Amino acid sequence: MKTEKLKTDILIIGGGTAGCYAALTISEKSNAKVLICEKAHIKRSGCLAAGVNALNAYIVDGKTPQDYVDYAKKDADGIVREDLLLTMSQRLNSVTERLEQLGLVILKDNNGKYVTRGNRNLKINGENIKPILAGAVKNLSNVTILNRVNITDFSVSNNRIRGAFGIGIENDTFYIIEANAVIVATGGAAGLYKPNNPGFSRHKMWYPPFNTGAGYAMGINAGAEMTTFEMRFIALRCKDTIAPTGTLAQGVGAKQINSLGEVYEMKYGLTTSERVYGTVNENQEGRGPCYLKTEGITTEQDDALKKAYLNMAPSQTLKWIESGKNPSEQNVEIEGTEPYIVGGHTASGYWVDTKRATTIKGLFAAVDVAGGCPQKYVTGALAEGEIAALSAVDFVKENYVVEIDNVDADRHIHEVKRFLSGNNSRFSTEQIEEAMQTVMDSYAGGIKTNYRFNEKQLDIADGKIANLQKLSEGLHADDFQELMYIYELRERLVVCRSVIAHLRARHETRWHSFAENLDYPDKDNQNFLKYVNSRLEEGKIKIILRDLVKGGTVYEHRN
Ligand SMILES: Cc1cc2nc3c(=O)[nH]c(=O)nc-3n(C[C@H](O)[C@H](O)[C@H](O)COP(=O)(O)OP(=O)(O)OC[C@H]3O[C@@H](n4cnc5c(N)ncnc54)[C@H](O)[C@@H]3O)c2cc1C
Repeated sequence: MKTEKLKTDILIIGGGTAGCYAALTISEKSNAKVLICEKAHIKRSGCLAAGVNALNAYIVDGKTPQDYVDYAKKDADGIVREDLLLTMSQRLNSVTERLEQLGLVILKDNNGKYVTRGNRNLKINGENIKPILAGAVKNLSNVTILNRVNITDFSVSNNRIRGAFGIGIENDTFYIIEANAVIVATGGAAGLYKPNNPGFSRHKMWYPPFNTGAGYAMGINAGAEMTTFEMRFIALRCKDTIAPTGTLAQGVGAKQINSLGEVYEMKYGLTTSERVYGTVNENQEGRGPCYLKTEGITTEQDDALKKAYLNMAPSQTLKWIESGKNPSEQNVEIEGTEPYIVGGHTASGYWVDTKRATTIKGLFAAVDVAGGCPQKYVTGALAEGEIAALSAVDFVKENYVVEIDNVDADRHIHEVKRFLSGNNSRFSTEQIEEAMQTVMDSYAGGIKTNYRFNEKQLDIADGKIANLQKLSEGLHADDFQELMYIYELRERLVVCRSVIAHLRARHETRWHSFAENLDYPDKDNQNFLKYVNSRLEEGKIKIILRDLVKGGTVYEHRN
């Protein structure tokens, strides 16, 4: 193992949607030196890797940013940060134009206006959206990109970020990176729960399997305040292919029907969680399988759908072709995925203020890793990346680089050496990962229990995950790729425990399926129109209930 020490003004962890846009923004506004560390390759990494076919957050003619806030608030039944939603919504349209200037094809009508899809969406040709963003960043003179560098921990002292530690997967290098400010943009967490598909196909999941919750785990371990992990996100997806369903629902107006052909969506409601819950319930009561009704659509719509899926989930198009039947000839079966933690869809993540500053000084968080502000999607990701970047630029003007102390660096080097040299583990990383997913599936509201849980089960889950954490300390890696797998597993285990603690703390069921607590099956507006926040203190997760930030009020940290 080689060791390399680097120094930068601003470190961006994760070169995904937010990370790339943050780097672009910093370059435009300052001369600050930027280093992006990306565990994969920036050209095709993260949520945008396979392409997307719509910009889901846009303020269409006749609507205002406040309308977007109201929509997201309704969908989350009140548990959102209105200040964060508003500051994001105000930037949605300007970042869209910037994306078009960078080269993204946004469909336009004969009058040169963007073609909208529903009330908030724009249609795009988005297969190459990530290479476009990455290409723009590659040309910036003040930005250095380190691909295949997996960041494993922050360096924090006296609640002030000093940088981070990472491993170079292809060059067997341990990195010590000193930075004046850090933007964490590592996305959400997939792979905590047993997924829909087994074995070889287990990574055929909705959320990128390589977004393993690193940003959350590093923050939790460093004592940052986190919010709303109990609002899990379960996607309603096309069965087997796990392809998105919005293109069917909004693109061709397909309704959710049960096996009797009855439209059931109005019976349960139309929020994101209600659409999943309705499907679960129809199945449980014997009226499954459930479908999106595409039978009877036109031949033009058949073609449009097949093309749209080629842009983001080609396996769905292949499935239609393979079966020899177009969507107009067969309804599309749907199912819920395993739960994910993802702050760009629901509201889990760092507790940030409107500058996207976390409770750790000098650490900023954006998008899927940042909480309080659901329904961000691609454009919200760019908007939050921009806000975090502007805040980091301001921060480095007034603060100076602080060095990482040797004791902290040595502790991390020692840990890496232990994984590389020790050979006493009775288990492989993959075995412990499977055990973790089984525990979460069975006892913390996975697919197996129709996403439901009770306190007794959560207690069992926590005990078992704690045991797996202990077992993971003795794991062995033959090389740096395996070393990364160990860190991925360990960060997932940390996130699992926080999810369990949050599910346990919300004594109500506000969102069916997303957090369905059988001990408290009803909504409790009296006591739980609140954020459930947490902080790790002396190894224990401390729950903090906070009042809602709403109606034009703004929350800023006072530290
Ligand atoms: C399959 C899918 C389809 C979607 N479709 C649409 C759509 O059609 N329209 C829309 O508007 N929105 C869509 N979204 C949502 C939107 O794409 C995301 O909300 C947004 O891109 C998230 O941005 P992010 O920067 O937080 O995460 P990402 O773009 O995923 O970036 C995170 C980056 O961090 C890297 N990383 C992770 N851990 C580490 C580590 N330890 N060290 C270094 N690097 C690390 C990852 O490799 C990745 O590059 C979709 C999301 C998914 C998953």
